[in-house]
Amino acid sequence: MTLEVIPIGGFSEIGRNCVAVKHDDEIVILDLGLMMDHYIELTESDDIENISGKKLIEGGAAPDINILKDLKKHVVGICISHGHLDHAGAIPFLANRFDADIHATKMTCEVIRNLTDRDRKPIKNKLESHPVNCRFKLTRKIEIEFIYMTHSIPQTVGIIVHTKEGSVAYLNDFKFDASPTMGPKSNIARIKELKGIKCLIVDCLYADKEMKAQSEKIAQQMLYDQLLNTDTDGRAVVITTFASHIARLKTITKLGQKMGRKVVFLGRSLAKYVHASEQAGVADFSDVNVIPYRVKIDSWLKDTRDYSKYLMVMTGHQGEPKAVLSRTLNTGLLRLKRDDIVVFSSKTIPVDVNIENRKKLDDHLKHNRIRIFSDIHVSGHGAREDHRDLLTWMKPEHLIPVHGGMKQLGAMKELAVYDLKYKPEKVHVLYNGQSVKLA
Ligand SMILES: [Zn+2]
Repeated sequence: MTLEVIPIGGFSEIGRNCVAVKHDDEIVILDLGLMMDHYIELTESDDIENISGKKLIEGGAAPDINILKDLKKHVVGICISHGHLDHAGAIPFLANRFDADIHATKMTCEVIRNLTDRDRKPIKNKLESHPVNCRFKLTRKIEIEFIYMTHSIPQTVGIIVHTKEGSVAYLNDFKFDASPTMGPKSNIARIKELKGIKCLIVDCLYADKEMKAQSEKIAQQMLYDQLLNTDTDGRAVVITTFASHIARLKTITKLGQKMGRKVVFLGRSLAKYVHASEQAGVADFSDVNVIPYRVKIDSWLKDTRDYSKYLMVMTGHQGEPKAVLSRTLNTGLLRLKRDDIVVFSSKTIPVDVNIENRKKLDDHLKHNRIRIFSDIHVSGHGAREDHRDLLTWMKPEHLIPVHGGMKQLGAMKELAVYDLKYKPEKVHVLYNGQSVKLA
């Protein structure tokens, strides 16, 4: 009997998350994500476009599933941890190559439906939705367990692949949030109960940060404190944030009520995630005016005389030229004046194109004397002290850090080896294609 981890995407790089767990002749795929900066370079869009899986793999935007060669036919299930595009975005392009069902929570299934059917990229794989804490039989030899974890999109789960040879745990992405503003806390009780974890594959994006992740409650309080204590009377207020961050969008909706303003969401991706969350029954945005399409967005901005009656929420927090904020500012459709307010409830993801785009946007805003409120945000990823707790509770025999560059992967190895006394050969810093035999 054998147990093996085969890295496919997201190893020693950030994005296109995908890993295969092989037990005897059966394979489970965990996540099927996109590398978003490469995807945007290839398609000039952050939406699902009509491009082939082959082109995406060649361009480094999708995981290279050819690593599996003739093992592809042994795939018995595809499990998706959450609905972010770097974990689920390659499904419309690659899932058809496997004769296997897709297993995920309800929210993640709704996001996948949005990416496939509603974007006219149908897949033949059956979508199976499961509760956020559950254990189900995938085959005679493999059971899958979902464990609820807090992150920046609802219904994120850690996935455990249970086999007779031991279990492989996959926690990518997660944080331990003691005061989430939506949904329960991470299921720490279950993590502590787990026995026989042969290997943990873990998100180490902030393994080099000596801290615990900050709670979403802090971002909520920052938004309330800063916006409710600023003179906004008669001023336009625009907030931009991550479209998939449903908890943050709920906070912004409450903020709108506190400010006595009608909330308007402008942008296609906002509409998609809002729709998915409503379909999954995790949130209700019936009191928000959601406008997805460009023509309608443009006419709303043109025809609305007094912006100060509204709290406008828009896509474009990275300064993307095609997103609503930059596009409508540049075309003059969004008429912001001196002392109007633009809030970035986000953090600039530090790649050159974002830094450049954001600078252009900031220059435009500053030139027009518009007030900028930046960085009203906390991350959805755990940091070093979350990792220490996780490893202490779960006690995995082997550790595979993912979702980081060399600095973060090294920091996780250092934590495990120097502080937690792991033998160096039990901590595997891997590249895609470099598999590890556990049994
Ligand atoms: Zn994520």
